Amino acid sequence: GRSPVFSRLLVVLAVGGGGVVVYADSRTDPSVTGEQNQAPPKKKVVVLGTGWAGTSFLKNLDSSMYDVHVVSPRNYFAFTPLLPSVTCGTVDARSIVEPVRNIIRKKGGGIKFWEAECFKIDPTNKKIYCRANVGTNLEGNSEFVVDYDYLVVAMGAKANTFNTPGVIEHCHFLKEVEDAQRIRRSVIDCFERASLPNLTDEERKKNLHFVIVGGGPTGVEFAAELHDFVNEDLVKIYPRVQELAKISVIEAGEHILTMFDKRITEFAEGKFQRDGINVKTGYKVVNVSDRSITMVGKGAGEVDVPYGMAVWSTGIGTRPVMLDLMKQIGQGGRRALATDEWLRVRECDGMYALGDCATISQRKVMEDISAIFRVADADNSGTLTVKEIQDVLGDICERYPQVELYLKSKQMKSLVDLLDDSMGKAGGEDMELNIEQFKKALEHVDFQVKNLPATAQVAAQQGAYLARCFNLMQDVEGNPEGPLRIRESGRHRFRPFRYRHLGQFAPLGGEQTAAQLPGDWISIGYGSQWLWYSIYASKQVSWRTRVAVVSNWARRFIFGRDSSCI
Ligand code: FAD
Repeated sequence: GRSPVFSRLLVVLAVGGGGVVVYADSRTDPSVTGEQNQAPPKKKVVVLGTGWAGTSFLKNLDSSMYDVHVVSPRNYFAFTPLLPSVTCGTVDARSIVEPVRNIIRKKGGGIKFWEAECFKIDPTNKKIYCRANVGTNLEGNSEFVVDYDYLVVAMGAKANTFNTPGVIEHCHFLKEVEDAQRIRRSVIDCFERASLPNLTDEERKKNLHFVIVGGGPTGVEFAAELHDFVNEDLVKIYPRVQELAKISVIEAGEHILTMFDKRITEFAEGKFQRDGINVKTGYKVVNVSDRSITMVGKGAGEVDVPYGMAVWSTGIGTRPVMLDLMKQIGQGGRRALATDEWLRVRECDGMYALGDCATISQRKVMEDISAIFRVADADNSGTLTVKEIQDVLGDICERYPQVELYLKSKQMKSLVDLLDDSMGKAGGEDMELNIEQFKKALEHVDFQVKNLPATAQVAAQQGAYLARCFNLMQDVEGNPEGPLRIRESGRHRFRPFRYRHLGQFAPLGGEQTAAQLPGDWISIGYGSQWLWYSIYASKQVSWRTRVAVVSNWARRFIFGRDSSCI
């Protein structure tokens, strides 16, 4: 039936930390409402972030089962794979964003959204501290506290500068929609600056030197977009452009696009060379000033490169609020919050983490494996029969598809042989074996939890997985004797998260894209570009953005890109 719980905003003024804190609590107090005999209040789920992970969680969650609150400093979802297209006006910024409130409306309302930034998480008292992004209340206060039963941390990551001096002050990043818009204005500004009178050719060249630091997918795609913009559109309106403009990609490793197959890397490097994009591999940037970038290459010493505009794209780092949380729970020194395979942050009751801010930890997998042994040894005898040990090993392999067992140690090999031998003999299945011996042997086995890449694909699949778990949670809790085999108090009763890799693209400009699809299937060229168009159109979160993006592409084909700096 319909829940009697109507969320209210209880405003409690509490003096804490020297300031007035607004306390936002939507859980109903029955003594106030007189609803003692009604159904228990819904559990409160607070979602931090409206990116790929948070939005996918929201879209797949049965929000009628929970009291759902969303906190994010931006009130929209952004389709990040098309951000490089926004930098050159191929696609409009507005076409790749969907208001969160639209997503909430489509879910029948009920979900509450606060445009605010969470600046502290208190896992002990299950509270988060937030600061509104849109001004203050009448008391001049913009901070408020939200409590939770479940917290879904999906805050993503920030750009990583590796503490290189001058990067924050002088480089652009390409992480948010605003970054892409800033880059677009800056590109046009460089061309306008280079067109001013009384400039030497040397100065014009400097203004038109575009440097991209980082040869990963984002840096490479931006370089390709910029090259197309310059050679297809700007060349028609700015005289001498081809002669003066230069694009450089600086990469510390030996190659660009190292996360792709070697064939794609080679093709990309060859294509960039043909296009005149200067790829400098083996160079590490050590300083950025307002005029030049200093880099160091093996055997080349320090080199100063004058530039007009620089984009820093060297991967992701950790947000301060996450660093603080990790320190509180004994995970200090990590890049991302460690979870188990069910995306739970084990140290914190009711907390889940997914997307770029989280990583599935190998240590936690080992703890799970120990738990499987513990459960199998129900009588605590310290021994299991050969048959039971076989089942445990079967479970480990079934539950951890990402885990690859390498039988490295002789010890393990001999135990596995022993199992095989015993199974072959009459009565061998009931032979008792010492668990400790097995656990010791497993320690020598290399359990490789493949580090999942920080991509939208992983984040979206994790969001959908967690929402499915939440949708089933009441069922499972109400039916603890359900069909699942391995159970233990406090243990999650769902299958662990499994990532399904659907392939990845690297647009290389000139209507050519490299595609690496499952099964080691590589396709490079014009055909893959059309595959890219179709997949990215189909993956849009709403029909509005789908139509907008496709019409932007059509506009570009017919009229070219717009070069005004607004
Ligand atoms: P995000 O999508 O970054 O979302 C984080 C959310 O948390 C945001 O809503 C943010 O506003 C919010 N937030 C931040 N701080 C706080 C706070 N303090 N409190 C509350 N909320 C907060 N991946 C692919 O798979 N394919 C691609 O082609 C691809 N291309 C990319 C191109 C670019 C230019 C970029 C930058 C990334 C690309 N990615 C791609 C990677 C992909 O965008 C990320 O892996 C993905 O966004 C991660 O999702 P997320 O939900 O963890 O984080």
